[in-house]
Amino acid sequence: MNEDLLQYIWLSGMFDIHNLKTTDGKIVEILKRGKLNKHAGPDFLEAQLKIDDTLWIGNVEIHLYASLWNSHQHQEDEAYNNTILHVVLNEDVTCFRKDGSPLPCLEIGKRINHQIISKYEFLRQNSLWVPCAEFLNKIDHFTVTQMLDRMMIQRLEHKTDLVKEWLKKVKNDWHSVFYYALARSFGFGTNSEAFEQLALQLPLSILAKYKSNLMQIEALVFGVSGFLNQEHLDDYHLTLQKEWHFLSQKHGLKSPDMKTFKFMRMRPGNFPTIRLAQFAALIHQSNHLLSQLLDEDDVHQIISFFKIEASEYWQTHYLFGKLSKKHASNLSISAIQNIMINGVVPVLFVYGQMIGNDSICQKALNILHQLPSESNQVIAQWSNYGVHSRTAFDSQALLELKKNHCDLRNCLNCKIGNKILIN
Ligand code: SF4
Repeated sequence: MNEDLLQYIWLSGMFDIHNLKTTDGKIVEILKRGKLNKHAGPDFLEAQLKIDDTLWIGNVEIHLYASLWNSHQHQEDEAYNNTILHVVLNEDVTCFRKDGSPLPCLEIGKRINHQIISKYEFLRQNSLWVPCAEFLNKIDHFTVTQMLDRMMIQRLEHKTDLVKEWLKKVKNDWHSVFYYALARSFGFGTNSEAFEQLALQLPLSILAKYKSNLMQIEALVFGVSGFLNQEHLDDYHLTLQKEWHFLSQKHGLKSPDMKTFKFMRMRPGNFPTIRLAQFAALIHQSNHLLSQLLDEDDVHQIISFFKIEASEYWQTHYLFGKLSKKHASNLSISAIQNIMINGVVPVLFVYGQMIGNDSICQKALNILHQLPSESNQVIAQWSNYGVHSRTAFDSQALLELKKNHCDLRNCLNCKIGNKILIN
């Protein structure tokens, strides 16, 4: 048992609430349990109680043992003068407020069903991949769905800070923010940081000037990424180097060390050189992509915006100067889906939130509902435990649930965990 659980028990009323009495024999009637306070000060604010016939409005403090009131120095703290009830497992001492008045105490240790405590300890302490694995098949579909809905919103809201940071940089230019988000998503995780840096150093306004010329776009993209710094490796490399030399001087652009891009353990089709060439092709082929996305509801149509092919050179190369067998240079459907999940949807959602347009947020969620589930180890494990992911919405929500709830043993804040404790 810890204080988090005791707070949860107080808030959810999971204790015997009949004939409640303070430890000095006064009748307690709970009208409002109060709002959980996550900041400094008493645990629950604005509670309402009747003690005997007197109505009290104020705060409730929770401790495992009453003596913790003194250990935490609350008897010296005016912020606790408005505490109307001390809820404890055990009253081992009588407590007083700073103004000297005695603090009414409610002992609930004997009123708690011990199964709740043992289930909670089990969830908190076992080392299973999902601590609640053995209960999952008893949880109704509605509860799981409700939790996944919550996780999906939480996952998208986590992206808000990054979008806000970008917005500040570009003075609220959403087209540039979308460009940053797309660039990040072309890094497919391993190279996301490097792609973001590329976009931050190569303004969209410069790319827009050369949009109609794919070779110039490639020179800018590969130049800012550092791939044109070394000795020329073939004729095409040399062409891009010359163009980069001209454009970088004209626009005052610099090229960092290309070592920021990682190639390790990657299939050649995923090499950052290929992704950069595809990114360049997307910039070349698309027109006001964000506006198009905002106007389009059909997910298949949205997918078609990303059906691009890198320039001819990349059909026979994975790296500069190394000839390979002819291969496709287009973005695969799974790569497009990945870009939509990690680049398009978060920006649409945050954009909708920030301009107060719910239908845009809903549209972002609908895209996820229409895309197939991602397949990775985490999703496969959930499936082993009977939680199947059918859409990208499910898979994104399950990734969030695992990372930010299950792994942190945050079961008290989980609807599935709540159901397990109640039943
Ligand atoms: S957070 Fe929820 S889903 Fe995860 S282990 Fe706890 S109860 Fe289960």
